[in-house]
Amino acid sequence: MPNDSTLDILKDALATLGAGFSDLPPHAETADPATLAAVLQEVAVRLQDNYPYFHPLYAGQMLKPPHPVARLAYQLALYVNPNNHALDGGRASSQMEKEAVAQLAAMFGWTTFLGHLTSGGTMANLEALWVAGRLAPGKVVLASSQAHYTHSRISAVLGLPFEAVPVDRFGRMDMAALEARLERGDIGCVVATLGTTATGSVDPLPQILALRERYGFRLHTDAAYGGYFGLAANLGPEARAAFERIGDVDSLVIDPHKHGLQPYGCGCVLFSDPSVGRFYKHDSPYTYFSSTELHLGEISLECSRAGAAAVALWATQRLLPPVPGGEFAGMLAQCRSAALALYERLAADPRFLVGFAPELDIVVWGVRDMSARAVFEEAARRGLHLALAELPGAFFGLEGETRVSCLRSVQMKPEHADLEWQETLWRLLSEATDAVASPSGHPPG
Ligand SMILES: *Cc1c(COP(=O)(O)O)cnc(C)c1O
Repeated sequence: MPNDSTLDILKDALATLGAGFSDLPPHAETADPATLAAVLQEVAVRLQDNYPYFHPLYAGQMLKPPHPVARLAYQLALYVNPNNHALDGGRASSQMEKEAVAQLAAMFGWTTFLGHLTSGGTMANLEALWVAGRLAPGKVVLASSQAHYTHSRISAVLGLPFEAVPVDRFGRMDMAALEARLERGDIGCVVATLGTTATGSVDPLPQILALRERYGFRLHTDAAYGGYFGLAANLGPEARAAFERIGDVDSLVIDPHKHGLQPYGCGCVLFSDPSVGRFYKHDSPYTYFSSTELHLGEISLECSRAGAAAVALWATQRLLPPVPGGEFAGMLAQCRSAALALYERLAADPRFLVGFAPELDIVVWGVRDMSARAVFEEAARRGLHLALAELPGAFFGLEGETRVSCLRSVQMKPEHADLEWQETLWRLLSEATDAVASPSGHPPG
């Protein structure tokens, strides 16, 4: 949570920012401090109605607190409130966006590319599928049945037919099913998910690339959640092989507001071929044309975009560059270790039902002879916040078309790799499970 020492850093930086505008005649803020304080107190009370997303005991959905440097840089930028739709809307923040995006592209091995930040992964995927549709009008978009639900909706918005490809028992796109569909033809774009939202499964990118050689389609990679894991040194062999080929795709999406320590909303879309910028060409009477350089607003479907988001990302990457072997890379590896540790404990405990080991940092498990929802609620009562998911029984080695109601935990907080926190999480989960098994309070058995 914010504290006095970080607010002092903000004050000092604000003084430096202000010095750059010291030749302006003075102008006062008009709001009355007493009224401001009263409203802010009201806001603080309203905001108490939240799960503790910033705390290690919140281990449910994909929620990670922004890094303090991102929070401070974002706040500092708000005093200027730049708009990155055009260079004149925010000269410094547009330049910082270009630098930050180039660092992300470099993470995938790209030095020549086209890309920009977006309000999130959905908008970024929409831009990528929009370009795919412009290149192959009317052709089918394929993604796995575990791909993010927005792909079918985005395709509908774009007027492109969408079809789902079944997954295997690891939650990865089934290669035989993909090939069978490719043989029937009419495919414009295949979306490979590197890190599915439900289970963190990584589609087999090397095999999909081999199929692209044979069938010729556009390959988009949705790495909104998983994109940073290429930096982790402890991936399994299949996930490692997929991330090693990520630079060979046509477009990709990564969400700095998921694993990149950014506040909402910060997504990013990247294209390997910069010439797709031609599709964005527009002729707006409102755009400023003081520069001959390509405006970010000319390569983005959105017009106004928060310059503050670019500033926060730039500052974070300045402190924690997204490079192999660095501190940030170590944080990703810790998330996967935390997930593996939880998985191993679950697998060794007869109360729980597990399937495949986590490829990234998401763990899903069933509870034998008990309602997952009841355990979820008991855990929440004890301060441990998990998530729920409905998943195919095949993920848990069950035959047929069954579905399993599971618990789900994204182990993305730095503390989740800490042995003491792991112990606390496990104790709370264990107590909650026993309480459901034996509501009277007596231990089961
Ligand atoms: C979160 C997510 C999205 C959607 O991104 P938003 O930033 O929530 O719009 C898309 N794809 C995957 C794989 C995701 O995990």
